[in-house]
Amino acid sequence: MTIKNVTVAGSGVLGFQIAFQAAFHNYKVTVYDINDEVLDKAKAKFQTLSEAFKNELNATDEQLTATFNNLSYSKDLAEAVKDADLIIEAVPENPQIKKEFYEKLATVAPEKTIFATNTSTLLPSALAPYTGRPNQFIALHFANDIRKYNTAEIMGHSGTDQAVFDLLVSFAKSIGMVALPIHKEQPAYILNSLLVPFLDAALELWGKGVADPQIIDKTWMVATGAPLGPFGFIDVIGINTAFNIRKMKADATQDPIKILTVKKLQQEFLDLGKLGTSSGEGFYQY
Ligand code: NAD
Repeated sequence: MTIKNVTVAGSGVLGFQIAFQAAFHNYKVTVYDINDEVLDKAKAKFQTLSEAFKNELNATDEQLTATFNNLSYSKDLAEAVKDADLIIEAVPENPQIKKEFYEKLATVAPEKTIFATNTSTLLPSALAPYTGRPNQFIALHFANDIRKYNTAEIMGHSGTDQAVFDLLVSFAKSIGMVALPIHKEQPAYILNSLLVPFLDAALELWGKGVADPQIIDKTWMVATGAPLGPFGFIDVIGINTAFNIRKMKADATQDPIKILTVKKLQQEFLDLGKLGTSSGEGFYQY
């Protein structure tokens, strides 16, 4: 088993970054999406991303020309995967869309193709039955802005072949990622298993009126030497994302403090257009 040809399915927020990253590291990459309009948007996003590679990573014009030469595009799934050694799926985080995608992919992909999902919240074992090849199915989870925050969490399900797991660890390293092998299925992988409870605890302290966000951050930063506190993190992740996660929990538990923090996030931030770093203001000004 070797990987030379990669197909990335879905060219949205994460997919186009994964495609460019692999193409930059000399893989032949086919970008698959649902229609020409979306693929045209991806081409425009690649131009912008190539500037970031140049400015932030000192990528040369030769490297970027080679990267663009490694990229091709298709809206026909069978065509897009006909030579694929690996397909990285980054279609929307909707179980029904993913299920239908894998059912179709299973009928058109060559036997050799390894399937990897970038899902953030679903377990690979939940999708494996639709792949037609559970032993060659695995999660390869990137973080947003992968050129800078270059983690790749690699997590199989109980039926994933060890050889596939090992190959994906090597592949992740070969595209400039820090490969993070996970030995057991875990909802939220490693990063979000740590981060979500941490951010929840901070929001809880704020919601209960224990201390101001800046003091909570200062406590964490001075005591641990961390460059950011939880509210600084929330600004980077986006207050809308923190709100959505918190709202699901508030609705499910009806816990009064969770309901209160959701209301505070809505009234003090979202209603005022304060989304965090992306809008120039959140818990801090940027
Ligand atoms: P997105 O909505 O930005 O992009 C999804 C892309 O899939 C779009 O280009 C859309 O046209 C395409 N698409 C829609 N239906 C499709 C189909 N049936 N077949 C093929 N393509 C289809 O989503 P995203 O934020 O890039 O997320 C994609 C995956 O990556 C999700 O599983 C998500 O959990 C995961 N992820 C996202 C982030 C993040 O920060 N956004 C981080 C890590 C992982």
